[in-house]
Amino acid sequence: MNYRSANSYYRELFGDKVYRIALDAGCTCPNRDGTLGTRGCIFCSGLGSGEFAADRNMTITEQLSQAKEKVRKKSDSHLYIAYFQNFSNTYGDEKVLSEKYEEALLDPEVVGLAIATRPDVISEEMYTILSNLSEKTHVWIELGLQTIHEDTANWMRRGYDLSVFEEAIRRLKMIPKLQVIVHVIMDFPCETKQQMLETIDYCARLPIHGIKIANLNVLRGTDLGTAYEKEPFPLMERDEYIAFIGEILPRLSPDMVIYRLTGDGAKRDLLAPLWVGDKRRTRNELEANPS
Ligand code: SF4
Repeated sequence: MNYRSANSYYRELFGDKVYRIALDAGCTCPNRDGTLGTRGCIFCSGLGSGEFAADRNMTITEQLSQAKEKVRKKSDSHLYIAYFQNFSNTYGDEKVLSEKYEEALLDPEVVGLAIATRPDVISEEMYTILSNLSEKTHVWIELGLQTIHEDTANWMRRGYDLSVFEEAIRRLKMIPKLQVIVHVIMDFPCETKQQMLETIDYCARLPIHGIKIANLNVLRGTDLGTAYEKEPFPLMERDEYIAFIGEILPRLSPDMVIYRLTGDGAKRDLLAPLWVGDKRRTRNELEANPS
């Protein structure tokens, strides 16, 4: 398949392979801490979509150093993006969070920050912090959207309206060098393919730099997993999903960076679809698809 992948974008930007190192800043999420709810989004594991991040009890420096050691076993690359992944990484004491972002930048091999968050937890102070950071390094903000459809958003307990997302996009776009990535999920059991394509078309019209497209992963221990175990619902098979990705990609600008095309739930907890666990085969089949 023809698309602008994150790897090729990083090579354009830095001239080399760049690894994203998943870090845990010790954040929580309003859907978890009782502000909006305690059970999280219906599909969210208790790890806040950060199954691959390091131990939150370690400092950022320690997490980086541990992860870099692992990367060095398979590559001689020395370029890293500090990826604040778990939960909502702009949610919390701004001063403490700012210190953690800055701590990552003390590492001379860290060439940028990727910060995953929700659009409803970016305070005025945080917009200023992001603006200052983006003057001195590359900053990518990853905003969860998942769907534009209100019924689905309510079903999954997202906790904010589309208007909140749109306001965050507007504010983030006022920061000249900051890049926005939007995360969407395909194959919600309550959505038709047409609805999923509407979410994609909406993203195609946004002034954003990149997109992460995941297919819904049903994980053990989540409310969605419990519902699935009681009464399994159909999810796309690998072939069908790859064909669907073939429909999605031409709807996006060729300049848009595609950071992900499938879900990436922890294999040990994956209930469905099981084909997601075979990442290599899925990647090979996606690449071989002529769309
Ligand atoms: S917003 Fe993210 S971290 Fe919070 S419950 Fe939903 S998926 Fe989990």
